[in-house]
Amino acid sequence: MSASLGLYRLQQVDRQIDHARSQLESIRRTLENDSELQQALKEMQTAQANHHLAVNALKNAEADVEAQRIKIEQADSSLYGGRVQNPKELQDLQKDIVSLKKHLATLEERELEAMIKSEDADGDLQSAKTKLDSIQARLGSEHKKLIEDQSVFSVKLEQLADERQAAVAPIEGNILQAYETLRQQKRGVAVTEVNDSSCASCGASLTASLQQNARSQKQLTYCPTCGRILYAS
Ligand SMILES: [Zn+2]
Repeated sequence: MSASLGLYRLQQVDRQIDHARSQLESIRRTLENDSELQQALKEMQTAQANHHLAVNALKNAEADVEAQRIKIEQADSSLYGGRVQNPKELQDLQKDIVSLKKHLATLEERELEAMIKSEDADGDLQSAKTKLDSIQARLGSEHKKLIEDQSVFSVKLEQLADERQAAVAPIEGNILQAYETLRQQKRGVAVTEVNDSSCASCGASLTASLQQNARSQKQLTYCPTCGRILYAS
């Protein structure tokens, strides 16, 4: 077996380990932080607070109208009840009733406005609820899928750890060290294939003797351009 074949196999396992780890990391982040859900929850809270305010404002406006109607009824019964006989007092009472009724009209307008606002707030609350429900339902199944994937990748990682152990076993310590260092420097690709007399990673053409050396059983051969370990099958 050439010195680079063992490393080439090891790298295949290591790249699968990198992939599984990055998948697990991305799943973990998605599960932890879902901005769409956070946004919908915030909108829901705002809609609830607005709805609460609008309902209270409507209650107050209704109470004001009711109190004003009672005042008018009382004035009416004084006017027509026969207890007040004095013409001046009767005239004053009539004036009072006119002004009370005028103010009632204003209060009724306010009540109507409060009613419209309350209905709008109710509509906003309903649509915030519907939006939140649909996001939660969708995320429920998405999260379920992510959790399934999470356990698939975790099992895969355990299998890969065994495979890695087997792949590392026949490799000499100093060669393994060279591989590990290079892999860190070259973003995960320390060993590269020779394809059509060229380096598969950087495309540089390789001399016949370099290609021959890449099959050596004793020592590693490096691409003179990108510095990666050459592997020729
Ligand atoms: Zn190269």
